[in-house]
Amino acid sequence: MKAALIGVGQAGGKVASAIRAADRAAGYDAIRGVLAVNTAESDLAPLDVETMLVGQERVKGHGVGADNELGASIMQADVGEVMGGLDGVVDPATEAIFVVAGLGGGTGSGGAPVLARELRRVYETPVYGLGILPGRDEGAIYQANAGRSLKTLVRETDALLLVDNDAWHESGESVEESFAAINETIARRIGLVLAAGENVEGVGESVVDSSEVINTLRTGGMAAIGYASAEAAPDASENINVVTSTTRKALMTGMSVPQTERAEAGLVIVAGEPDRVSRKGVERARKWVEEKTESMQVRGGDLPLESDRIGVVIVLSGIASSTRLESFMERAKAASESVDREDPTAAFDNDELDGLF
Ligand code: GDP
Repeated sequence: MKAALIGVGQAGGKVASAIRAADRAAGYDAIRGVLAVNTAESDLAPLDVETMLVGQERVKGHGVGADNELGASIMQADVGEVMGGLDGVVDPATEAIFVVAGLGGGTGSGGAPVLARELRRVYETPVYGLGILPGRDEGAIYQANAGRSLKTLVRETDALLLVDNDAWHESGESVEESFAAINETIARRIGLVLAAGENVEGVGESVVDSSEVINTLRTGGMAAIGYASAEAAPDASENINVVTSTTRKALMTGMSVPQTERAEAGLVIVAGEPDRVSRKGVERARKWVEEKTESMQVRGGDLPLESDRIGVVIVLSGIASSTRLESFMERAKAASESVDREDPTAAFDNDELDGLF
């Protein structure tokens, strides 16, 4: 799937660069171009991708702190410049544009929804969000920002793929310590989804194609991805259970939004050597996910790659609010109330979390 990535803010830039690095290392070359946009000059400096500094008149390259309203306002003012910087990032072959951002901060949280809206106005290709939710131990302002940003970004994108910062980090590490590891994990897993349709070696009916990813995400709303892998026997006929049990593990313990159980649509991608991937296993896994998520349609396919393991990626779209998402939204609401009390002039509605615009 030929994709353009636009990272907004610190996490956005880092995750977008990590995705491209993983894509290149694996040899998929699905990523057409990457642009990192930020209000903080120092966050752009270490990135190995094209960069653009915005809001220079207002914040002089020093960032917006955790002020996502300022982040939104700066993006609004400079969105023409950002769109003008997309030559060579988005091209006629681009099949999807991803706006990548951490939702808890300022620049990405506020800027991503503004940019997504403009991208959708201008481009025919789908515009997806890849949004990172703060871990439960991050401060109140991050929770409140992320709640408002999520609400806005889901409205302004064709689908919003969420990754919870608590989902894929090793226990014992703080979220900050594990950012690099989390980014690496996000990059490899998203990389497998983007590899759909790019893997030229395996051509066949069952090989997953980029249109299947796009059709899965067509439900809109929030989406999540899951992953698990296991050792596989050399012969496909011995791997029916490997495929089905790995699929179960991906859904039960490997989702980017933990406790995601129901969805409108899904896609099960089984990655591995064609000789090892059991078609019967893929079909059973697909059906199991369909039943388990009470989904209207779950697609299934394989992704040929060289490995003695089998990896299963599950994309779920139109995910219903899970226990985890509900508790996040509760935290976000409570946090925005406490932020309100500190700043009684803030125009929050305490009963319902407001969108950003
Ligand atoms: P911004 O630069 O103002 O957009 O804000 P940041 O991107 O620094 O932070 C926003 C959110 O992203 C916070 O919830 C952080 O915990 C999270 N975050 C920051 N850096 C990273 C990162 O490298 N990886 C991940 N997964 N999350 C990050």
